[in-house]
Amino acid sequence: MVEEEHTQEFILEKECELRFEVESKGQKVELELKSGLAEVFGTELVKQKKYKFSNGSKVAVFTWHGCTLQLTGRTEVAYIAKETPMSIYSNCHQALEELRKKADEDDLPGPVVMIVGPRDVGKTTLCKILLNYAARMHRRPTYVDLDVTRAQICMPGCIGAIRVERQLNPAEGFHVQSPLTYHFGKLSPNDNIDHYNIAVTELAKHSKLADNKKTKFSGTIINTPAWVKGESEKLILHAIKSFKVDAVLVLDQERLYNELVKIKPESLKAILIPKSGGVVAKSQLQRDEIREIFIKEYFYGGRIPLYPHSFEVKWSDVNIFKIGAPLLPSSCMPVGMKVEDNSTKIVNITPSLSILHHVLCVTFAQSAETIFETNLAGFVVVTNVDVDRQCLTLLSPQPGPLMHNHLILSDLQFMDTH
Ligand code: ADP
Ligand code: MG
Repeated sequence: MVEEEHTQEFILEKECELRFEVESKGQKVELELKSGLAEVFGTELVKQKKYKFSNGSKVAVFTWHGCTLQLTGRTEVAYIAKETPMSIYSNCHQALEELRKKADEDDLPGPVVMIVGPRDVGKTTLCKILLNYAARMHRRPTYVDLDVTRAQICMPGCIGAIRVERQLNPAEGFHVQSPLTYHFGKLSPNDNIDHYNIAVTELAKHSKLADNKKTKFSGTIINTPAWVKGESEKLILHAIKSFKVDAVLVLDQERLYNELVKIKPESLKAILIPKSGGVVAKSQLQRDEIREIFIKEYFYGGRIPLYPHSFEVKWSDVNIFKIGAPLLPSSCMPVGMKVEDNSTKIVNITPSLSILHHVLCVTFAQSAETIFETNLAGFVVVTNVDVDRQCLTLLSPQPGPLMHNHLILSDLQFMDTH
């Protein structure tokens, strides 16, 4: 692949986009809008401002009316595309705007849309576009991310919601201080469907509590994990019911669309929309890296560095829980208990070396009974387990001691190499 290292200028005609990728480690590419108007996944660019993209970035700069762009640095790929689905995405936004206006007039909740599709079709990107367009109209939509595999607004393995009132930073995406977060602790919903569905129900219940009228009529945009045939139907249906979804946008796959039409409630609108030819598939390695970077930045910061704390806690001062006990054959179960009852059992665990490097979710819950319905306060990582002294060393964004002593074990691990 040809690598270019210098300043390149691109002149875009109306309704075209410049696509570029920054691949090599440590590389940075600067984007500057020289003239005209342009946007990155819905966020308007400010003229003469330099936007820095680091490695892993796959970007499209779209223009409705034409523009001149400049890229400085080494890009592996950089080309102009004339075919984009942006006018279709913009129509989706217009339709949502109409529903928001109506909701405002009638004092009703705004539209709830869910975006579904297989892996790497631009689901998250479409969410960003719709959120940014809404923010540009001075709306305040709720963004719900049900994808536990990716880290967009909250720790991988968790699901969460935020209110979006400003356009996202094109180079940083969602940078959120405190999303409303619920624990799941695994990297695929299918690892514990019952628990996942409980978390979705709770998030739906709590994210709907609009703090003002603007939030209420601005509606909700829901991102979902990649749809896997034969596995995702139950999850998607559950989420549709929990969030009272009005419309589902199915990205790319007619097969999925037909599948959904078969199973969806009659009142639900399902719309098939094309994916962009620019969407780039990520390798497993890249996915792992993105997760790793998210956790690292949670503790150590990104562009603005953070200085996490490390402190010891006594085993006796914390309660560590995990969700789900091993599944027993039904013949071993007590009379009257079904096998699946175990998957959502809250088990109090004694620390051991097996929790070393694991992420622990700090819950606001005051008791084991309220763990499912309570959101998370934050995260810590176990960096040492001292069995003799019965102590744990924790990496934490806040200084010790822990403000909340109920912790939930996550499957997620982080090696603190700082
Ligand atoms: P999904 O959520 O369906 O897995 P994403 O929205 O994360 O897919 O998109 C995959 C990757 O493709 C992302 O890195 C995103 O920035 C990139 N991408 C999306 N749309 C375009 C486009 N039009 N041109 C270039 N890259 C794009
Ligand atoms: Mg995604």
